[in-house]
Amino acid sequence: MTVFDDYIQLGLLGEGSFGKVYKVQSKKDNAYYAMKEISYGQMKAKEKELLVSEVNLLRKLEHTSIVRYIDRYQDKARCIMYIVMEFCGAGDLSKYIKQCKQAHKYMDEEQVWSVFLQILSAVDYCHNPPSTSQLQQKLVNRDLKPANVFLTDQKTIKVGDFGLCRLLEDNQIARTNVGTPLYMAPELLENKSYNEKVDIWSLGCILYEMCALQPPYVATSMESLKIKVAGGVRPLVPSQYSADLKNVINLMLQKDSMKRPGTKQLLQLSCISTRLNFVKPMPQQQVIAPQIAIVEQVNRIPQLPPMQQQQQYVPYQPKPTESELRRREQDLKMKEQLLSQQEAACRQRCMQLGLNYDLI
Ligand code: ADP
Ligand code: MG
Repeated sequence: MTVFDDYIQLGLLGEGSFGKVYKVQSKKDNAYYAMKEISYGQMKAKEKELLVSEVNLLRKLEHTSIVRYIDRYQDKARCIMYIVMEFCGAGDLSKYIKQCKQAHKYMDEEQVWSVFLQILSAVDYCHNPPSTSQLQQKLVNRDLKPANVFLTDQKTIKVGDFGLCRLLEDNQIARTNVGTPLYMAPELLENKSYNEKVDIWSLGCILYEMCALQPPYVATSMESLKIKVAGGVRPLVPSQYSADLKNVINLMLQKDSMKRPGTKQLLQLSCISTRLNFVKPMPQQQVIAPQIAIVEQVNRIPQLPPMQQQQQYVPYQPKPTESELRRREQDLKMKEQLLSQQEAACRQRCMQLGLNYDLI
């Protein structure tokens, strides 16, 4: 029995650290799923064992905010493992943030809390598995990033790739393809020993990015990232966000992992506990759906003349008033001032460390 006896392959959703991910349709229930192909032909015996044990672990994860594992298939002749998962049809948080940035539109604060809380709840489940769950051991993700936070058609979010990350670390092939280190905790960047608090750092980076629309530390090389993280200077979170939100970010982005709160401590904070059962659906944004979904939608309405089709995707933008323009100008001036202050602080810190700021 191969995966293609049970599923119809529809199109490529993307390519990641392990290989290609396809959209598939079940022949049994006609529902859509995502199928991840993992080629293990070049893996060493120990890595293959790890792959099997990690996939077994994936099956045990049962949480509303974690991408559900459905099934797995193995093509022994071609050395490919196929993992069938729940399909998240509305793109991912990384694309969503990019869109907000392009539209110069910040995320609504309650939206930010809602996404954050759903991820926190998933991470808490993995760090402190309930005794009733099949998961018998603590699971550290190590690769939490906006691209692994998917948006569903029901406008909720689901974290993907929990469990497969240990492979990333031990598998040389995967390691060369690892996407971005921008969300990695300082102890991981420095190859030091670490624990589940690395996920708290990454989650802090995600929370920061939902507000600032960029990660807290941006760098083009590993070395400059290490220096920036060690310096600890990051642009301020935009002023419209609450002190509670900024405080939670600061707690999570502490360089000393011992000082970083665990998920249980975070869940006890009043700004978090009071929002616990509140899920704000993500706003409708058709363009964030993966390419393939858009193609399908366009195909379903071929009779629409090109003009009308275009109009469907043009967001409504009211003309700013005179006073609004003045307010924006003031805002810009303030931001410029803040940026130059931060740059001066960075320069000073670099001088103290004996580094040339312009080369970083
Ligand atoms: P990475 O290794 O970078 O995390 P993945 O292999 O997880 O990448 O995913 C590759 C691509 O497939 C990404 O563009 C992602 O958006 C998409 N994808 C992965 N899993 C799913 C899913 N369950 N539903 C929809 N799209 C998915
Ligand atoms: Mg992924």
